[in-house]
Amino acid sequence: MTTPIISVTDVTKTYGRGTNRFDALRGVSLDIQSGESIAIVGKSGSGKSTLMHLLALLDEPSTGRIVLEGTDTHQLRGSALNRTRNKTFGFVFQQFFLTPNTTVLDNVMLPLKIAGVSRRERKRRSLDALAQLDLHDKARNRATDLSGGQKQRTVIARALVNNPRVIFADEPTGNLDSATGAVVEDILFELNREHGITLIVVTHDEDLAARCDRRVHIRDGVILDEEVAA
Ligand code: ADP
Repeated sequence: MTTPIISVTDVTKTYGRGTNRFDALRGVSLDIQSGESIAIVGKSGSGKSTLMHLLALLDEPSTGRIVLEGTDTHQLRGSALNRTRNKTFGFVFQQFFLTPNTTVLDNVMLPLKIAGVSRRERKRRSLDALAQLDLHDKARNRATDLSGGQKQRTVIARALVNNPRVIFADEPTGNLDSATGAVVEDILFELNREHGITLIVVTHDEDLAARCDRRVHIRDGVILDEEVAA
């Protein structure tokens, strides 16, 4: 058995205090293997986004351990944490949407700017990523002037520029019509299969979940069961 890319052991997450205390995760353990596609499925309020935020190192667990590629992430702080996140992960999240009045190219270059990559190299890599998503002719458009599907493809291009090992997708097809959603899904699974990028998806959508190698069902902050694709 190979070492998992992300290993979660006995993780809990409690929000608030006293009478406002809410236990969003109540002891979750999960190993994610490099190169797999995994869906985190559950009803609204079950703890899916909380788990995704912990896996993506956007928040810290109350107790328990998250190990990323052999490093206990609790040891990572400040700029080291930001660097690790930016270098290892790509995000396809509704809440990390595009900056509206800047160009598509500027949006895609942002993670490289954060990583301190030179302007020339940023531009080259971002134009490559846009070409990969069939958006090279939109590089100079404002992000607001794109269709829903083009926006989501831009978000994927931005998630790709850093050559991430893992892509996190939170309801990636949530706001798209079914034909456009299918195109976006195909792109994500192609990145998973052909480039070996680990894909972690949070979704309500049973059909999208069914396409993943593994489905983890979560309810009231615990994992109910796991299903592996036939
Ligand atoms: P899901 O993604 O499955 O809809 P979440 O992980 O967003 O669920 O939320 C799980 C539970 O934790 C919900 O009951 C939610 O209200 C609560 N919760 C999430 N974030 C916070 C927060 N920052 N403060 C207090 N409660 C929260």
